[in-house]
Amino acid sequence: MNDLPRIGIGIDVHRLAPGRDCMVGGIRFDAPAGPEGHSDGDAVLHAACDAVLGAAGLDDLGTLFSDRDPANRGRPSADFCRATMALLQTRGLRVLSMDCVLETEVPKLKPRRQELRESLATLFEVPADRVNIKGKTGEKVDAIGRGEAMRATVVALLGPR
Ligand code: MG
Repeated sequence: MNDLPRIGIGIDVHRLAPGRDCMVGGIRFDAPAGPEGHSDGDAVLHAACDAVLGAAGLDDLGTLFSDRDPANRGRPSADFCRATMALLQTRGLRVLSMDCVLETEVPKLKPRRQELRESLATLFEVPADRVNIKGKTGEKVDAIGRGEAMRATVVALLGPR
């Protein structure tokens, strides 16, 4: 039942607001604006959790950690990753690989790409060379291009532990 690979996708959008901490993939970036949200607003981690949960056939992040629950206010999204990995373990599954795209005007990911890969690798218990992340601008189109929001899309492949 669990011996074949399983793929999942997660997508997450957050509005950008001046003065908010800019959390991406578990790392804080220096940027003029950061993602709004009930938690720390880390769109990459939210999309990554949803990709993993989806592949495992589990409930999505919003169902597991409601944004109406005061306990989740300001919560580091790394907590959600740990909870996701604990659920994955109960299913006898692990992450085999993960690929992430962040569409945003700020921050630029390239200078800290290796650090991001290592952060994601630690959070999702996978070797760093099996995790990738790239940044794309919005080409001045729509809310992302105007710098009003960021959108993360993550694909995760799971296999047996
Ligand atoms: Mg989110």
